[in-house]
Amino acid sequence: PHWETHLRSSAHIHRPNGFSVLVTGAAGFVGSHVSLALKKRGDGVVGLDNFNHYYDPALKSARKHLLSSHHIFIVDGDINNAKLLAKLFDIAKFTHVMHLAAQAGVRYAMENPHSYIHSNIAGLVTLLEASKSANPQPSVVWASSSSVYGLNEKAPFSESDRTDKPASLYAATKKAGEEITHTYNHIYGLSITGLRFFTVYGPWGRPDMAYFSFTRNILQGKPITVYRGKNHADLARDFTYIDDVVKGCIGSLDTAKKSTGSGGKKRGPAQFRIFNLGNTSPVTVPMMVGILEKHLKIKAKKNVLDMPGNGDVPFTHANISYAHNEFGYNPTTDLQTGLKKFVKWYLSYYGYNHANSGN
Ligand code: NAD
Repeated sequence: PHWETHLRSSAHIHRPNGFSVLVTGAAGFVGSHVSLALKKRGDGVVGLDNFNHYYDPALKSARKHLLSSHHIFIVDGDINNAKLLAKLFDIAKFTHVMHLAAQAGVRYAMENPHSYIHSNIAGLVTLLEASKSANPQPSVVWASSSSVYGLNEKAPFSESDRTDKPASLYAATKKAGEEITHTYNHIYGLSITGLRFFTVYGPWGRPDMAYFSFTRNILQGKPITVYRGKNHADLARDFTYIDDVVKGCIGSLDTAKKSTGSGGKKRGPAQFRIFNLGNTSPVTVPMMVGILEKHLKIKAKKNVLDMPGNGDVPFTHANISYAHNEFGYNPTTDLQTGLKKFVKWYLSYYGYNHANSGN
């Protein structure tokens, strides 16, 4: 196929820095940012994405164009395609996999449970099988989620805290992913790093997330729905700016050890780690809306409703000392600053001029 000739002949797998990285979900929000950052510092990057229609495919195409303009090539394919994966590993000899492809979102699972099983369970296993059979065996870094802490009431969340109360099918598939990756680690000697992201936001973000859809509605003069938890308590999230998360992804990649390929028998056990990548300062949803109103200079029309029990948790709050100690993870962007950058991107991407509040 076209991409094969392209990959074989191109500089996409050129790796002056010594890393050759497969980024799955490269047309996604986090994947596109991580791909650009890796490329910028000189790593070889190959993207893989199935360009599904969970949200606006035009946004995924636009990210793809942005990546192409930086000479990053995204193969259009599914992580469940074992043959495709085998071929990619064979051509590019990946040293690392940054696995960010997944079915995200907690509410969509109510209507579409099987898409979570397809991407987050079956797809993960297919990718781990390909990684374990590849020569060399890559180190795998993948995105878990803060949602594994579920209905935990003890805050902040530390990696060793209990994760036995997932509040959504999404959370359950991420928790399952942590168990599945652990199994591949100890049986096949794969080096595994799981990253529990906390509500990542920023330019090129995900339209299904509240800060994004609220911005759209506020600009269009439409109402937004703000949910409250038990006893009318505000929901709160440990919003984490994309650039901080990208630094965490790359820091964890750089400290990932090589896979041993021996199931721990000959060359010592392969590395298995799980890190929180949060911001350590939760903000309530109404406060987040207030920041958007300020940056957009428009008052939101709010409907405040009690949470319908659709998978949202009351709050998230990360303890990040483990990532800080291991690779100096140190998020520096507060929500005011980060949302200002998001709004600036939004207005320019969707072609608003600043005087225009309609569409
Ligand atoms: P995203 O939806 O923007 O990106 C995921 C990408 O993966 C999409 O482009 C999608 O087309 C692709 N994809 C999905 N299923 C696939 C499949 N079977 N084969 C190939 N490609 C597939 O989401 P994101 O916000 O960038 O999230 C990246 C990762 O981080 C995901 O694993 C997500 O679960 C996790 N995560 C994100 C957040 C957040 O706040 N954004 C929080 C916690 C965890």
